[in-house]
Amino acid sequence: MFVKIRILGDCDGIGLYICNLSINLKWHLKKLENKTIGFAKSFSRPFPAVVVGAEFSYFKKTDKSKQIDSQILVRKLRDKLLTIGELYSKQNGNSVGCCAEVNCANQILIKRPFANLNNIKFSKAYRPRTMQVIPKCKNCKITFE
Ligand SMILES: [Zn+2]
Repeated sequence: MFVKIRILGDCDGIGLYICNLSINLKWHLKKLENKTIGFAKSFSRPFPAVVVGAEFSYFKKTDKSKQIDSQILVRKLRDKLLTIGELYSKQNGNSVGCCAEVNCANQILIKRPFANLNNIKFSKAYRPRTMQVIPKCKNCKITFE
């Protein structure tokens, strides 16, 4: 998600401030995207299905899709996932608690327990085998939006 701010007239005063803010935000989000792309390209066979990056308040993590270890799954995220269905059961075409987004967000929540699920930002998700961008699944939309 990029915030686009149109500057009317000269880039000065508050305009310049907003201009810088906008550039910083783009640059900042670009960093997460680049980190995720680098992570995706670091794999060789056997490739994970999908990788993604997550960020909360300048803290960034990348992870891949896999069944999340229930021992490390934080309560806040587990409770939300359980509103969709049992862990690892197939709901809306995807297995609950197996997405890269869930694994990545959980890493963030371990270090930043006060983060709200809907405040965690994600990079695009990539399939490392092809570098195809994979849209967020319905379960992740329910969990993080
Ligand atoms: Zn998902």
